[in-house]
Amino acid sequence: MLISQKSKEIIDSCRFCWMCRHICPIGNVTGQERNTARARMLALSLVERDAEPLEGVADNVYECALCGACTKECVTGWDPVKVVKEVRSELIMKGKTPPYIMKLIENLQNTGNVYGIAEVDSELKAEIDSLPETADTLLFLGRDAIYKSPKSAIEAIRLLKKAGVSFTVLKNEPDSGYAIETLIGKTAESKGVMENCAKVLNFKTVVCYDPADAKVFLREYKEWGIDLSANVVTFTSYMAELIKNGTLKVKKSNKAYTIQDSALLSRDLDEVEPIRDIIKACGENREMLIFGKDTMLAGNLIMNEYMPDVMKEVAQSRWINARNMGAETVVTECPAEYEMMLSVKPDGIDLKTVEEVISECL
Ligand code: SF4
Ligand code: SF4
Repeated sequence: MLISQKSKEIIDSCRFCWMCRHICPIGNVTGQERNTARARMLALSLVERDAEPLEGVADNVYECALCGACTKECVTGWDPVKVVKEVRSELIMKGKTPPYIMKLIENLQNTGNVYGIAEVDSELKAEIDSLPETADTLLFLGRDAIYKSPKSAIEAIRLLKKAGVSFTVLKNEPDSGYAIETLIGKTAESKGVMENCAKVLNFKTVVCYDPADAKVFLREYKEWGIDLSANVVTFTSYMAELIKNGTLKVKKSNKAYTIQDSALLSRDLDEVEPIRDIIKACGENREMLIFGKDTMLAGNLIMNEYMPDVMKEVAQSRWINARNMGAETVVTECPAEYEMMLSVKPDGIDLKTVEEVISECL
């Protein structure tokens, strides 16, 4: 394979120890060994030795959510996610990307989002149009919020307005590069999308509503050498600071909240405390089963386009975890997990975004 020497070393370093087996959100719901990092590394080692064709692992590498749970657990200290992304790059270079992924790439090229949605929700558009053209602070909404969770995007905008923050949202917000990098890894195309986005981020502060964009701005741009002059912060850390410095005055309620930690925040960006600071200011923090850096994915909207049944089971599995911990209200940090959990929400437990929790405590 054309993948890097480091990735080849990662594949061959796998001790097939199974330490990553029980923590894979996909493998846990499908029950299929092939979905675990261990089996994927084994399959790739066969491709590397010409015992299997590359296209034989194409579906398999798209069944990984890139959630990083296996990377955190891997006893070798290597990173199976890096390998998966590189194989996705190799597949596109060799014209062997599965057709259902090519469809998403075409959607991206035609509409700017993998979902192929041409129009922005009219209420969200009106909310964005109500904001000043220029400001020091930019709220970057991200593709999932704009096209799949406009209600969340509207609430986030309204909360910042209530806080008296002088901010704007770009009327034609570009793709951060998250989707393309997810689909085809670190290719020249992905870099081009990121560079294009970087050109319009000339603000003092960029508040990322979606942890996926925060991760791309703070990690991938750095790796590509794409400079951002803006101070990039996550929505959760920004809101926690507004509460801490008294800009947002919340009243503690007697409600119990259970956090669905975003893996992008907790594992990729090392951010676990701001959401807890917010929840503790608003009520009781009743932890989820497997939380913080150990969090389990609750859903991914891009994967929902081609593995909807599995994604529903992933979200359902998180609801079971929440129920087992006596959760009353689950609180999400990212639009993808909010929408996926909402799609299979059981009766008797509430689901709220972090901005909903703050808003009801004002
Ligand atoms: S990154 Fe997540 S989904 Fe992919 S193999 Fe590892 S644990 Fe499973
Ligand atoms: S924890 Fe690491 S070494 Fe062990 S099976 Fe998983 S990928 Fe291989």
